Amino acid sequence: MIHYQADWILPITAPPVLRGVVTVQAGRVVAVGASPMTGSATTHDLGRSVILPSLVNAHTHLELSALSGRVPPAPSMPEWVVSLMRARDSASSSDPAAIRSAIEAVRSSGTGLVGDIGNTLAAVPELRTSPLRARVFREVVGFPDTLADEVVTAALDEIRGADANADVRVGLAAHAPYSVGARALRALGQVSQSLGGPRAIHLGESPDEIEFLAGGHGPWRDLLERIGRWDPAWAVPGIGPVAYLEQVGWLSSELVVAHGVQLSDDELARLGEAGATLVTCPRSNRWTGVGDPPLERFVRSGVRLAVGTDSLASAPDLNLFAELARLRELSSEVPARALLAAATVHGARALGFGGELGEIAPGSHASLIAVPVPDESLDVEEYLVGGVGPDQVTWLDPDDGAAG
Ligand SMILES: [Zn+2]
Repeated sequence: MIHYQADWILPITAPPVLRGVVTVQAGRVVAVGASPMTGSATTHDLGRSVILPSLVNAHTHLELSALSGRVPPAPSMPEWVVSLMRARDSASSSDPAAIRSAIEAVRSSGTGLVGDIGNTLAAVPELRTSPLRARVFREVVGFPDTLADEVVTAALDEIRGADANADVRVGLAAHAPYSVGARALRALGQVSQSLGGPRAIHLGESPDEIEFLAGGHGPWRDLLERIGRWDPAWAVPGIGPVAYLEQVGWLSSELVVAHGVQLSDDELARLGEAGATLVTCPRSNRWTGVGDPPLERFVRSGVRLAVGTDSLASAPDLNLFAELARLRELSSEVPARALLAAATVHGARALGFGGELGEIAPGSHASLIAVPVPDESLDVEEYLVGGVGPDQVTWLDPDDGAAG
């Protein structure tokens, strides 16, 4: 048994503990609370530090790590996607070395679990040999809709052949409503339901997506035509993204949507009622030219809110603490405690790791980090959402993956 003692402990699912202790055995939390032990050889006193669960980056694309620095910010998302496609053609995509160094960067910045999207499952073997836990979503891009059976079968075959385990789990994702047809979406929804576990999609990201779903025209239609993927038989939904997802059978508590920048209050509330999770990626939203996420509306809507960095093709790094600092810049009103819950327990539950990660509670994995708190800081939760660098993060889990 090891006791980690510090001036603050943030269990996340319970109020902060002043001068508390976390007891760990065989990689699991045994107890958390006040009344610190003293004099035990197995007590590590971290002093003026805060212990919290490792963070959960609920939306990233490790597969795109080789594109770091190669896709510049753009004034609109279709323009950003065009440069992404160009960069992808010229780079060796899903480069294992780039994925490995991205995993190291994620972990060293205090993240213990990722929701990772890939057009291949190339990240799975790299994750399997790392201490980072993951839900890897095999993403389908499916226009034209005549390819539905083919792309869904291919994704399912890959998932069944994946070398997954309890720490690296797999699932299905559809890229977005403007890049996957209705038939493929329906099929993916059904397959995902039979597999169990969460399913992911990019939703309500750009204004161009709203235009495409409402009227079947705009920059996404133009791009599909230009690359020979437009489907003339595609029926224009004539509705918003959330109603559309409901129509194709995707709305459920297993749904994890990324972005939601363009969603109305009603649409956010509908996601909330369904028990779905919204993952906000504010730095990526700025980079891809879709605008800032309406953070206060997100919180007011009651939808379960998680946080992600998105990929290195639209974010400068994979440090989730930097994403929290961006959220704090967007609103001084949202309590730091709510932002920290978004970056931990909400992401863990959305990715199917509820009770295991994202909180410090008896039975949860001892996936713990500590951050020193400067003397002048009185509000540790506020301090943590102000930006924390990898050099300030210490891992405390000697029995849970790699220590140090
Ligand atoms: Zn994404």
